[in-house]
Amino acid sequence: MYPRAFHYHRAGSLKEAVTMLSQLGEEGKLLAGGQSLIPLMKLRFANPKHLVDLNFVPGISYIKEDKGSLRFGALTRHAEVEYSATAAKIPIIHDCAAGIADVQVRNRGTIGGSIAEADPSGDWATVLSTLDTTIRCLGRKGERTIPLSKFITDAYTTALGPEEIVSEIIVKNPPKGSGGAYLAFKRSAPVYPTASAAVQLRMEGDVCEDAAIALGCVGLTAIKASQAESALRGQKISETTMNAAAEAARAAADPQPDMRGSAEYKRMLVGALVKRAIELAIRRARGEQVEVSHLYA
Ligand SMILES: Cc1cc2nc3c(=O)[nH]c(=O)nc-3n(C[C@H](O)[C@H](O)[C@H](O)COP(=O)(O)OP(=O)(O)OC[C@H]3O[C@@H](n4cnc5c(N)ncnc54)[C@H](O)[C@@H]3O)c2cc1C
Repeated sequence: MYPRAFHYHRAGSLKEAVTMLSQLGEEGKLLAGGQSLIPLMKLRFANPKHLVDLNFVPGISYIKEDKGSLRFGALTRHAEVEYSATAAKIPIIHDCAAGIADVQVRNRGTIGGSIAEADPSGDWATVLSTLDTTIRCLGRKGERTIPLSKFITDAYTTALGPEEIVSEIIVKNPPKGSGGAYLAFKRSAPVYPTASAAVQLRMEGDVCEDAAIALGCVGLTAIKASQAESALRGQKISETTMNAAAEAARAAADPQPDMRGSAEYKRMLVGALVKRAIELAIRRARGEQVEVSHLYA
């Protein structure tokens, strides 16, 4: 189906995009990669009267290392992250970018659009929840930064004001001895995962000093599995501690049955993904180069 007719506006800067949004009010929407918005418009689930295109704004697509953090411009495409040696310094970020949908979607879709969309099945929010991530936002009153944990407030809902824009995503480099892995189970490449698990650990020998575990596609937002984290933190990692973390992750999941599987199936799946991701995260924390690929049905 064709989308309903709309007016097209090309922003020359983020500031101009904010001005346009505040003038257009509720009828205006930003267009980034269009990989979520355009399909919704074609299905006529979204019918904005005005689109403000960010694609011609110079200098908002980048990956930079700066003062112990990685900074991602709002319009940085998933594929740019996938092929970036700088982004690969935090391997879980590479896992995420490389596993999103297919080449076409990764070439167009952006990290800023994904975080702003807050799709419960989106990969970025799950992965970035296990890292120290803040979202920089630009609005009429200037800039503010919001921790990711406070930015996504519900399914498809964020702390952004109506005329605010995600301008940058800032991720602190994990401390020494850290390793992480992101695993999703998918029915095929170009679809969203059935369930996913992101695990970021800090190890001292065999002991897990710190743990962050997030579950994707099994709740209205990415779920921080705090009991699963506690099962590992301060513990010598063994089959028993990993099973305890997986069990706690299953209990934390709140999946809905849908075409991807029953609630019980997704719950079992997410526990298994957490366990595998822990094993991979430990190997990476020990300095091993480990290729991680999603699991396909
Ligand atoms: C076939 C298919 C499969 C997909 N599979 C996956 C998958 O497996 N995993 C996954 O994570 N994603 C998947 N996606 C979604 C994809 O990752 C999108 O790129 C992403 O969700 C949205 O980014 P975008 O740049 O395309 O945003 P757009 O579609 O352009 O915008 C999405 C929303 O965010 C708003 N927006 C965009 N940029 C900003 C900004 N800077 N500030 C504030 N608001 C903004 C827009 O107004 C709109 O409401 C898939 C998409 C398709 C079409």
